[in-house]
Amino acid sequence: MQEHMLFFVGTSLVLMGTFWIGVAFYNWIDRKKLFARHKIQANRYASEKQVKKAARLILKHQIFILLPLLFLTYPLFAQLGMNFSFQDWPPVWMIALQIVFFMLVEDFLFYWTHRILHRPNLYKKIHKVHHEFVTPTAIASLYAHPIEFIVANSLPVMAGPVLVALFGLNMHLGVLWIWLFIRVLETLDGHSGYNFRLWFPHKLIYGAGAKPHDEHHSKFNGNFASFFHHWDRIHGSELVVKPRAAAKKPTAQSRDADAVSVS
Ligand SMILES: [Zn+2]
Ligand SMILES: [Zn+2]
Repeated sequence: MQEHMLFFVGTSLVLMGTFWIGVAFYNWIDRKKLFARHKIQANRYASEKQVKKAARLILKHQIFILLPLLFLTYPLFAQLGMNFSFQDWPPVWMIALQIVFFMLVEDFLFYWTHRILHRPNLYKKIHKVHHEFVTPTAIASLYAHPIEFIVANSLPVMAGPVLVALFGLNMHLGVLWIWLFIRVLETLDGHSGYNFRLWFPHKLIYGAGAKPHDEHHSKFNGNFASFFHHWDRIHGSELVVKPRAAAKKPTAQSRDADAVSVS
């Protein structure tokens, strides 16, 4: 297969395949009410109507935004010398370091784009769509306004690999796929509504399971980062997660809030 097609087909399959298989799994356990004791918001589930609405919007985004973006991304990586040879992988230590670097870059960019999207005017116009899910479920992870889909969901994920390629540090297509697989698993888990103990990668890295982002959806006013705690801690936007409080229903006030700025 030509490099362009390998990049386009393989990357699309990793992103969309992981996402939809993950969504199908979480939706199935939601409907069967399996693992109910691990639910963060006890006995609260997104409705089927919400899930179907989200599925329609996400499919549109994937077809009309994600696929064209991936098609156009290939020339950039090719120009920057991406390694497309599966006989020539970087050493394992380099793969591990690159993945940690991608996480740090994504976490930083996601923190700031996400936090800026909580400014009242941008929240009303853009980010409110994502927050229709007060009780998140896996499909909510990509349910967003198209501008958010590009600026907060897509660009921060690709920024790390572009930087590694730019620095000439052996950016391998297979490593890009591993990274995208981890990122999709993390965001599915973060929106799943379940706090599974020891679930990789969210629990392992974030240290608090899916609770921080679940709290973000029910409280609106903190926990803006994706993988790590540090930016929320440094900038005073971390919500303190109390297991019992997390299971409470969100208040009418938090449900109706349009946006809460964090100072
Ligand atoms: Zn938000
Ligand atoms: Zn979210």
